[in-house]
Amino acid sequence: MYDHDLLVVGSANADLVIGVERRPAAGETVLGSDLAVHPGGKGANQAVAAARLGARTALLARVGDDAYGRLLLDSQRAAGVDTAGVLEGGAPTGVALITVDPSGDNSIVVSPGANGHLTPADVRAAAGLVRASRVVSAQLEIPLETVVEVVRSLAPGSRFVLNPSPPRPLPAEVLAACDPLIVNEHEAAVILGEERSGADPEDWARTLLARGPRSVVVTLGAQGALVASAEGVTRVPSVRVDAVDTTGAGDSFTAALAWRLGTGSSLAEAAAYAARVGAVAVTRRGAQESFPTADEVEALTG
Ligand code: ADP
Repeated sequence: MYDHDLLVVGSANADLVIGVERRPAAGETVLGSDLAVHPGGKGANQAVAAARLGARTALLARVGDDAYGRLLLDSQRAAGVDTAGVLEGGAPTGVALITVDPSGDNSIVVSPGANGHLTPADVRAAAGLVRASRVVSAQLEIPLETVVEVVRSLAPGSRFVLNPSPPRPLPAEVLAACDPLIVNEHEAAVILGEERSGADPEDWARTLLARGPRSVVVTLGAQGALVASAEGVTRVPSVRVDAVDTTGAGDSFTAALAWRLGTGSSLAEAAAYAARVGAVAVTRRGAQESFPTADEVEALTG
C-alpha cells in the first residue's frame, strides 16, 4: 500500500508582487502599489492543487529558515499537504520578485535560494517517502541532478510525471521515466529545439514521444490539450470559461492529472479531468488561491 497518492518534488517560492505604472529604467526608482506576498513555486503549487482535490499529497522541497519558509509551510498545511519532507535551511527561501504593469504584463526575477540546495542526497534521505508514493511528480525549478535521483529512487510500479519547466534539454534517463511528460507550447519548442516539426501540436507530441517518454501531454491553453502514447494521439476537449488569470493553470492541470492516473484513470480520462481543473483555476485570480476542490470541479458545466 502507498501512504501517498502523490508526492511532489519541487520548488517553493514566495511571490512578491508590486503593481507599477511603468518599469524603472536602469538607475531609476519608481513607486508602486502595496506589496502582496503569495505562496508559489511550481512544486508548492502542484502539492496544494492535488491536496485541495482530495489527494493524499506530500511535498519534498527545501525552504529557508525564515518568515517566507514559514508562510509556505503554513499554506501547504492549510491545504492538507504532508510537509514532513519539506527541509529547512541552506539558503534563504526562494523568492520571485514580480512587477505587474497596467496591461497585466509581468516582469519576474527569481532567486532560487533554498530550491537550488535541494540535492540528490536529500532525495536519497527521503527514499522512504519516494517509495511510499503511488505517483511522483517533478518540475525543473530544482537542480536537474535532483530530478535524476528521483527517477532512480522510484518504487517499481509507481508512476513518474514531469513538467519540464523552466524547459531545458533532458537526459535520456529522465525522458524514459516520464509517463507522461507534460509540456505547454513554449516548453515543447525548447525541448524539441531544431527538431520542432512545424506548427502542428500533434507533430510536436509525436516528435516528443519519439524522444523516449512513455507518454506525452501537450497543454494548449484555451484549446485544451493533446495526449500521445503508443496508442496514438488524442485531443482532450477544452472547457469554455471566462478566463481572468491563467497563473498556475498548468500546475493545477499537472497535479490533477498525476493524481487521477494514480486512481486508475486512463491518460485520456485523467487529462480530461485535469482540463476541467485548469478551467476552474483560470476563472479566479492568483495561483494557489485559484485551485478548486473536487466539488467545484464537479459543479463546472461545459
Ligand atoms: P501553462 O500554464 O503551463 O502555460 P496552459 O496555459 O496550457 O499551461 O494551461 C493548462 C491547462 O489549463 C490547459 O491545457 C487547459 O486545460 C486549461 N486552461 C488554460 N487556459 C484555459 C482557458 N483560457 N480556458 C479553459 N481552460 C484553460
